Amino acid sequence: MIQITHNSFEGENVKNGGIRGAVAFCHMLLRERVKPGDRVVDATCGNGQDTLLLAELVGSSGKLWGFDIQSDALERSRERVDAAGLSNRVELVHAGHERLADYIKEPVKAVVFNLGYLPGGCQELATRGETTLIALAQAATLLSPGGLILVAVYTGQVGGVDEWESVRGWGESLSPREFAYSAPSRP
Ligand code: SAM
Repeated sequence: MIQITHNSFEGENVKNGGIRGAVAFCHMLLRERVKPGDRVVDATCGNGQDTLLLAELVGSSGKLWGFDIQSDALERSRERVDAAGLSNRVELVHAGHERLADYIKEPVKAVVFNLGYLPGGCQELATRGETTLIALAQAATLLSPGGLILVAVYTGQVGGVDEWESVRGWGESLSPREFAYSAPSRP
Protein backbone atom coordinates (compact mmCIF):
# COMPACT_ATOMS: atom_id res chain seq x y z
CA MET A 1 0.00 0.00 0.00
CA ILE A 2 1.23 3.46 -0.80
CA GLN A 3 -0.31 6.36 1.02
CA ILE A 4 0.67 9.84 -0.03
CA THR A 5 -0.04 12.76 2.20
CA HIS A 6 0.64 16.31 1.19
CA ASN A 7 0.66 19.65 2.80
CA SER A 8 1.57 23.26 2.26
CA PHE A 9 4.73 24.16 4.13
CA GLU A 10 3.94 27.84 4.40
CA GLY A 11 0.68 29.75 4.56
CA GLU A 12 -2.74 28.66 5.70
CA ASN A 13 -1.93 25.04 6.34
CA VAL A 14 0.78 25.94 8.82
CA LYS A 15 -1.54 28.33 10.66
CA ASN A 16 -4.20 25.67 10.75
CA GLY A 17 -1.81 23.05 12.05
CA GLY A 18 -1.51 21.34 8.63
CA ILE A 19 2.05 20.17 9.07
CA ARG A 20 1.31 18.79 12.47
CA GLY A 21 -1.75 17.15 10.86
CA ALA A 22 0.28 15.47 8.11
CA VAL A 23 2.88 14.20 10.57
CA ALA A 24 0.20 13.00 12.96
CA PHE A 25 -1.57 11.17 10.13
CA CYS A 26 1.69 9.48 9.05
CA HIS A 27 2.37 8.49 12.65
CA MET A 28 -1.12 7.06 13.08
CA LEU A 29 -0.65 4.84 10.01
CA LEU A 30 2.78 3.75 11.19
CA ARG A 31 1.47 2.85 14.64
CA GLU A 32 -1.15 0.65 13.02
CA ARG A 33 1.22 -1.16 10.69
CA VAL A 34 4.72 -1.35 12.19
CA LYS A 35 5.27 -4.07 14.78
CA PRO A 36 8.17 -5.17 17.01
CA GLY A 37 10.78 -7.01 14.97
CA ASP A 38 10.01 -5.14 11.73
CA ARG A 39 12.63 -3.54 9.50
CA VAL A 40 11.82 0.04 8.47
CA VAL A 41 13.37 3.06 6.76
CA ASP A 42 13.24 6.77 7.48
CA ALA A 43 14.25 8.13 4.07
CA THR A 44 14.58 11.73 5.34
CA CYS A 45 15.63 11.90 9.00
CA GLY A 46 15.55 15.70 9.37
CA ASN A 47 14.94 16.52 13.02
CA GLY A 48 14.37 12.88 13.86
CA GLN A 49 10.70 12.92 14.82
CA ASP A 50 9.84 10.08 12.45
CA THR A 51 13.10 8.31 13.26
CA LEU A 52 12.22 8.29 16.94
CA LEU A 53 8.72 6.92 16.42
CA LEU A 54 9.94 4.21 14.06
CA ALA A 55 12.72 3.22 16.46
CA GLU A 56 10.13 2.82 19.21
CA LEU A 57 7.75 0.80 17.06
CA VAL A 58 10.28 -1.77 15.79
CA GLY A 59 11.38 -2.65 19.31
CA SER A 60 14.73 -4.10 20.31
CA SER A 61 14.47 -6.95 17.78
CA GLY A 62 13.71 -4.63 14.85
CA LYS A 63 15.89 -2.44 12.68
CA LEU A 64 15.66 1.10 11.37
CA TRP A 65 17.80 2.66 8.67
CA GLY A 66 17.69 6.45 8.59
CA PHE A 67 18.99 8.51 5.66
CA ASP A 68 19.82 12.17 5.27
CA ILE A 69 22.22 14.18 3.16
CA GLN A 70 22.92 16.59 6.04
CA SER A 71 25.14 15.62 8.94
CA ASP A 72 23.28 18.17 11.13
CA ALA A 73 20.03 16.28 10.57
CA LEU A 74 21.66 12.96 11.42
CA GLU A 75 23.16 14.43 14.59
CA ARG A 76 19.75 15.70 15.71
CA SER A 77 18.21 12.32 14.98
CA ARG A 78 21.04 10.54 16.77
CA GLU A 79 20.53 12.73 19.84
CA ARG A 80 16.83 11.86 19.93
CA VAL A 81 17.28 8.11 19.69
CA ASP A 82 20.20 8.16 22.14
CA ALA A 83 18.16 10.13 24.66
CA ALA A 84 15.38 7.56 24.34
CA GLY A 85 17.84 4.67 24.72
CA LEU A 86 16.94 3.24 21.30
CA SER A 87 20.20 3.51 19.39
CA ASN A 88 20.80 -0.26 19.44
CA ARG A 89 18.31 -0.78 16.60
CA VAL A 90 19.13 2.33 14.54
CA GLU A 91 21.61 2.73 11.67
CA LEU A 92 21.93 6.30 10.44
CA VAL A 93 23.33 6.69 6.95
CA HIS A 94 24.90 9.89 5.67
CA ALA A 95 23.75 9.45 2.08
CA GLY A 96 20.88 10.35 -0.19
CA HIS A 97 17.89 8.02 -0.12
CA GLU A 98 18.47 7.37 -3.82
CA ARG A 99 21.20 5.03 -2.52
CA LEU A 100 18.81 3.11 -0.30
CA ALA A 101 19.33 -0.18 -2.10
CA ASP A 102 23.12 0.05 -1.59
CA TYR A 103 22.57 -0.21 2.15
CA ILE A 104 19.46 -2.35 2.55
CA LYS A 105 19.25 -5.87 1.18
CA GLU A 106 16.32 -7.23 3.19
CA PRO A 107 12.57 -6.65 2.83
CA VAL A 108 11.21 -3.75 4.86
CA LYS A 109 7.80 -3.10 6.40
CA ALA A 110 7.67 0.68 6.03
CA VAL A 111 9.52 3.48 4.28
CA VAL A 112 8.77 7.07 5.27
CA PHE A 113 9.53 10.08 3.07
CA ASN A 114 8.95 13.45 4.71
CA LEU A 115 10.09 15.58 1.78
CA GLY A 116 11.28 19.15 1.49
CA TYR A 117 13.90 20.94 3.53
CA LEU A 118 15.05 20.70 7.10
CA PRO A 119 12.99 23.17 9.14
CA GLY A 120 15.32 25.97 10.18
CA GLY A 121 18.00 24.71 7.79
CA CYS A 122 19.16 25.47 4.26
CA GLN A 123 16.23 25.45 1.85
CA GLU A 124 18.53 24.59 -1.05
CA LEU A 125 19.19 21.20 0.54
CA ALA A 126 15.60 20.11 -0.03
CA THR A 127 14.64 16.82 -1.60
CA ARG A 128 14.28 16.79 -5.39
CA GLY A 129 11.73 14.96 -7.48
CA GLU A 130 14.35 13.26 -9.59
CA THR A 131 16.15 11.58 -6.69
CA THR A 132 12.92 11.03 -4.77
CA LEU A 133 11.63 8.91 -7.66
CA ILE A 134 14.80 6.81 -7.70
CA ALA A 135 14.41 6.21 -3.97
CA LEU A 136 10.70 5.40 -4.27
CA ALA A 137 11.40 2.80 -6.94
CA GLN A 138 13.99 1.16 -4.68
CA ALA A 139 11.63 1.35 -1.70
CA ALA A 140 8.86 -0.37 -3.67
CA THR A 141 11.27 -3.19 -4.60
CA LEU A 142 12.25 -3.68 -0.96
CA LEU A 143 8.72 -3.49 0.44
CA SER A 144 7.46 -6.65 2.12
CA PRO A 145 3.86 -7.83 1.64
CA GLY A 146 1.57 -5.62 3.71
CA GLY A 147 4.29 -2.98 3.81
CA LEU A 148 3.70 0.73 3.60
CA ILE A 149 5.38 3.67 1.89
CA LEU A 150 4.36 7.07 3.20
CA VAL A 151 5.24 10.27 1.38
CA ALA A 152 4.54 13.75 2.75
CA VAL A 153 5.00 16.41 0.05
CA TYR A 154 5.02 20.12 0.93
CA THR A 155 3.57 21.86 -2.08
CA GLY A 156 4.05 25.34 -0.57
CA GLN A 157 7.82 25.04 -0.90
CA VAL A 158 9.82 25.98 -3.97
CA GLY A 159 9.72 22.93 -6.23
CA GLY A 160 7.10 21.28 -4.04
CA VAL A 161 4.35 21.20 -6.66
CA ASP A 162 6.71 19.62 -9.21
CA GLU A 163 7.78 17.06 -6.65
CA TRP A 164 4.14 16.36 -5.87
CA GLU A 165 3.39 15.82 -9.56
CA SER A 166 6.38 13.49 -9.92
CA VAL A 167 5.41 11.41 -6.91
CA ARG A 168 1.76 11.28 -7.95
CA GLY A 169 2.69 10.22 -11.49
CA TRP A 170 4.93 7.50 -10.12
CA GLY A 171 2.23 6.26 -7.74
CA GLU A 172 -0.34 6.15 -10.50
CA SER A 173 2.00 4.15 -12.70
CA LEU A 174 2.29 1.34 -10.16
CA SER A 175 0.62 -1.95 -10.95
CA PRO A 176 -2.65 -2.11 -9.00
CA ARG A 177 -2.09 -5.86 -8.74
CA GLU A 178 1.00 -5.22 -6.64
CA PHE A 179 0.27 -1.97 -4.83
CA ALA A 180 -2.66 -0.05 -3.46
CA TYR A 181 -1.99 3.62 -4.08
CA SER A 182 -3.87 6.43 -2.48
CA ALA A 183 -3.34 10.18 -2.70
CA PRO A 184 -5.39 13.36 -2.60
CA SER A 185 -6.59 14.31 -6.10
CA ARG A 186 -4.93 17.74 -6.01
CA PRO A 187 -2.12 19.45 -4.09
N1 SAM B 1 11.40 13.42 8.90
C1 SAM B 1 11.95 14.64 9.42
C2 SAM B 1 11.55 14.84 10.88
O1 SAM B 1 10.88 13.99 11.47
O2 SAM B 1 11.95 15.87 11.42
C3 SAM B 1 11.74 15.85 8.56
C4 SAM B 1 12.43 15.75 7.22
S1 SAM B 1 12.80 17.31 6.47
C5 SAM B 1 11.21 17.91 6.00
C6 SAM B 1 13.51 16.79 4.93
C7 SAM B 1 14.92 16.24 5.06
O3 SAM B 1 15.27 15.61 3.83
C8 SAM B 1 15.99 17.28 5.31
O4 SAM B 1 16.66 17.00 6.51
C9 SAM B 1 16.95 17.13 4.12
O5 SAM B 1 18.31 17.27 4.46
C10 SAM B 1 16.65 15.71 3.69
N2 SAM B 1 17.04 15.38 2.31
C11 SAM B 1 17.10 16.18 1.22
N3 SAM B 1 17.47 15.46 0.14
C12 SAM B 1 17.66 14.19 0.56
C13 SAM B 1 18.04 12.98 -0.08
N4 SAM B 1 18.31 12.92 -1.38
N5 SAM B 1 18.13 11.86 0.67
C14 SAM B 1 17.86 11.89 2.01
N6 SAM B 1 17.48 13.00 2.66
C15 SAM B 1 17.39 14.13 1.95
